Amino acid sequence: MSKDSYHLSHENLARPVLVKKSPRAKRMTLRVSPTQRDVILTIPVRTGARKVSAFLEQHIEWLNQQLAKLPEPVPFENGRFIPFLGQPHELVFCGPRTKKHVGQGVVTRIMAGDEHTKPDPSANVSLQILGAVDHAPRRLKDWLKKEAKRKLVERVDIHARRLGLDYTRLGVRDQRSRWGSCSSQKSLSFSWRLILAPERVLDYVAAHEVAHLREMNHSERFWALVAKTLPEHNEARQWLRQNGQDLHRYGANE
Ligand SMILES: [Zn+2]
Repeated sequence: MSKDSYHLSHENLARPVLVKKSPRAKRMTLRVSPTQRDVILTIPVRTGARKVSAFLEQHIEWLNQQLAKLPEPVPFENGRFIPFLGQPHELVFCGPRTKKHVGQGVVTRIMAGDEHTKPDPSANVSLQILGAVDHAPRRLKDWLKKEAKRKLVERVDIHARRLGLDYTRLGVRDQRSRWGSCSSQKSLSFSWRLILAPERVLDYVAAHEVAHLREMNHSERFWALVAKTLPEHNEARQWLRQNGQDLHRYGANE
């Protein structure tokens, strides 16, 4: 933490307040970051402590309303449900590997039913995570990132080929503010959380970033490129606007 920011707590507020001094700030502003559930108070550099606490005091009720509106976080825990490619999956922490697990990967996607019955697509699907339970959340996150990258490489390659474009590298990160980005060096970067969304949504973000390889803007020409490789992208775009924020609930503390 730099000397220009510090934490404050208030007895009527469940979360600490991160106070940030900003040379650009003309007045105090408060916001709640929906992805990190942080309360952030930006203040002009020379603001006295008394002014800060008075301002906070005035807005406690508003802040509590904002915090109450945030969706509940869903930690990676045994028995919880998380979406994977848009479909709910139950998390099953299996514990250390035994003979019966030989040959299985660390994380396995199991459809309901056994070998004698056909998988029922409407029934529960689970993600079984092998190994010490303490490490299961991290293993799950590593696996989700790997799956996200695999799927994104697959889709990006398809769109790049269709549009006759090249990229230099593709990375998957825990970026909070954007679903994807494309640098002037033609390097693409995506949020691993796209693997939680329905496949058509991941596909849309892949097509969107590929189109930025030619058009570094959101002009009509850019949208024409997206439509050329993915004509049916409006619904996915809308899904992301409406539900995207919700994807940040899962494994929020991992
Ligand atoms: Zn864009």
